[in-house]
Amino acid sequence: MRLRSAYGDLNHGEPTMKLSILFILMSLSAGCAFSSHRRIEAKMGTPATIAAAQASLASKELSGPIEFERIVAASWAVDRSGLLNLKHPKAKHVKDTLESIEIYTYRITHSRYGTFLIDTGISEELASDGDSDAIGWMVAKSMNIDKLNTHISTKKILETLPGPLQGVFLTHLHLDHILGMPDIGNRVPVYIGPGDISHSAFLHLFVQGTADRLLAGKAALREWKFDKEHDAIDVFGDGSLWVLHMPGHSPGSVAFLIRSKDGPVLITGDTCHTGFGWANGVEPGSYTADHKRNRESLRILRNMVSEHPEIQVHLGHQRVGQKLSSYGDKS
Ligand SMILES: [Zn+2]
Repeated sequence: MRLRSAYGDLNHGEPTMKLSILFILMSLSAGCAFSSHRRIEAKMGTPATIAAAQASLASKELSGPIEFERIVAASWAVDRSGLLNLKHPKAKHVKDTLESIEIYTYRITHSRYGTFLIDTGISEELASDGDSDAIGWMVAKSMNIDKLNTHISTKKILETLPGPLQGVFLTHLHLDHILGMPDIGNRVPVYIGPGDISHSAFLHLFVQGTADRLLAGKAALREWKFDKEHDAIDVFGDGSLWVLHMPGHSPGSVAFLIRSKDGPVLITGDTCHTGFGWANGVEPGSYTADHKRNRESLRILRNMVSEHPEIQVHLGHQRVGQKLSSYGDKS
């Protein structure tokens, strides 16, 4: 009815303005995709299950063919209400203030398939100027880009790799995980979980321009395919790197289980950002799209680690065992 009356009104004056308002209202209610970048289905890997990935940990041979390195790309500070669901019974006492966090990228080098990065760190332009043409001013302000202190740019990381970069695996498609994309070669394949590019939300009206500029010139992103029977992928087909579907924080969020030379490693991505969240089973706050699914994904990962305490765990933005520490605290 409203649409009809709006169109009816158009015949009787101020048509252009009314049409614009109509389109703005329609797009606000529908939201928009995270990015308009192209996507294709990932062909790499063998469909598998989280249960099979976990069962592989029972093998007596805990070490595997992958060399693993965590790189702290930057220090940063964001709101605790984004990092933690402060309504959770275990987080009700936590004050909403700025929390010190870090941005990580991970290098994995497989003895046969070469070197890959998980997440992308910080581009040289952003590291050296403290600013980037790709990042819109409103996004920069809401992301606290002024609090970002880069330790090593992605360009410098790439210069130290033991061989050419064969690919990038993203834990999920959020801006703080693709800030290093401008330094990644345009032809390097980039893999993401299903549904993150097309994920529609009101907030993405403001984010899409920045996401598209960070991905500009890159090949189509390759989406992992999961289905009812397969919630994991055995990436190299040898059980050394598993992608585990962990929807919730974003629809396509994934974790990685790695059989490294130093034993099993779990990268949770932003299914859990903080040491406090991991210790207490508290899912992220306002940065998370679907709290119920995020909680379930976090429960699965915490269970896996309680059954296999030998796993070395790497959280989205803090270290395991790290206590909450307000930004500016000396501790
Ligand atoms: Zn993040």
